[in-house]
Amino acid sequence: MNIEQFYPLFLQANKVTIDSRKIAQNDIFFAFSGENFNAATLAEKAIIDGALAVIVEQPEYENKDKNIFCVSSTLEFLQQLAVYHRNRLTIPFIGLTGSNGKTTTKELIHAVLSEKFNVQYTFGNLNNHIGVPLTILSVRPEHEIAVIEMGANHQKEIEFLCTLSRPDFGYITNFGKAHLEGFGGFEGVIKGKSELYDYLKNNNKTIIVNENDPIQVEKTANYQPVITFGKEGSDYNFESFTDEHFVGLAYQGTRAVSKLTGEYNFTNLCAAASLGLYFDISFEKIKHAIEQYVPTNMRSQVVKKEGKTMVLDTYNANPSSMAASLKNFITFEGRKTIIIGDMLELGSESGKEHQDILKLAQELGFDEIITVGKHFKAVHHSDLAFEDTMALTEYLKLNSIQSDNILLKGSRGVALEKVIEFV
Ligand code: ATP
Ligand code: MG
Repeated sequence: MNIEQFYPLFLQANKVTIDSRKIAQNDIFFAFSGENFNAATLAEKAIIDGALAVIVEQPEYENKDKNIFCVSSTLEFLQQLAVYHRNRLTIPFIGLTGSNGKTTTKELIHAVLSEKFNVQYTFGNLNNHIGVPLTILSVRPEHEIAVIEMGANHQKEIEFLCTLSRPDFGYITNFGKAHLEGFGGFEGVIKGKSELYDYLKNNNKTIIVNENDPIQVEKTANYQPVITFGKEGSDYNFESFTDEHFVGLAYQGTRAVSKLTGEYNFTNLCAAASLGLYFDISFEKIKHAIEQYVPTNMRSQVVKKEGKTMVLDTYNANPSSMAASLKNFITFEGRKTIIIGDMLELGSESGKEHQDILKLAQELGFDEIITVGKHFKAVHHSDLAFEDTMALTEYLKLNSIQSDNILLKGSRGVALEKVIEFV
């Protein structure tokens, strides 16, 4: 089976899925090999469930009469199909990468651009070598703009994802201390993320530049076309303010208050608003989009519970986002407890980074510092240093937190959200 032969079938399909539990009528199912997984049964079942076609990589399961096709690699076929489809699409593609804030920025761009256009965008956090092709394949004739989140934890990954998504516009949210292990330190992060700039430059595409970020300015010096924001003299300039910890931005005298907390979200909002203005959406409409958008995904989410204010940022953490989060949280009025979980994937820098964050937390002067995970435990010599969420849960069952404000932040692997109901 080759791509040209298969493409007409794809065009008739409802959607492409790799999850056998989510197959609906007329879907195409890509059966990835797994350990506990019988492709033969799944493929047959998918067809019975109404799938239009199934892609497998085991020749013995091929059954062309039933539209079960064998390819040499399911993954490569998925990626090639995405490229083939992308090459036939003429709508603008906006590509995003960066160490922190990709998903938030993507959601905000989607909210803003949806004021005028039918926008397709990355679902959730599907931002890797499988997620990006799936997103591309979800772009259909009714869509007018696509927003693609691209994640990476090593070199050449963004370069590859750019060859799939071929962005017309690109934005790097920030260069931060994330995935230091895979990238080979901070310089490696800059290099790896900048692969998006390399693609855009080589193809004469537009770079969105936050002129407040010296690395972005340096990397895009003398390049055109750009869309700039962040400074007086930039294409778009916004003023920042906060309204009860919620971040706001003002443009030419009109104020928009988001439902996001954390100073860094100002930048995310600016990027989304700049793209909105660039695509001729009025700031009144942009304000509407920004004010309507409610984060529901444990990213900078503010929740009031029994008179306490909880900041839930349990989706992920690395040294940059942790420091930003702590600096934001210290501005809250009243007694403050922080529950911080390990920052994973830091490699040899892990010990020092955990030590630095703990020191920062102590210097900022939180009333109570609770840590979760063995990396923090190694440097935090306290009864409030817990090995894991289970140990903290046991503690919380007997001891309630006496603070007006509680911050929860840690890496995905720590799953700090498990303790929320006990706080
Ligand atoms: P992932 O790598 O998991 O896909 P992401 O880049 O999509 O992460 P988000 O999920 O949007 O990032 O945000 C994760 C956390 O990063 C937020 O909860 C917040 O603490 C922090 N953050 C968000 N935006 C920024 C930013 N512009 N600069 C620094 N930190 C940020
Ligand atoms: Mg993300």
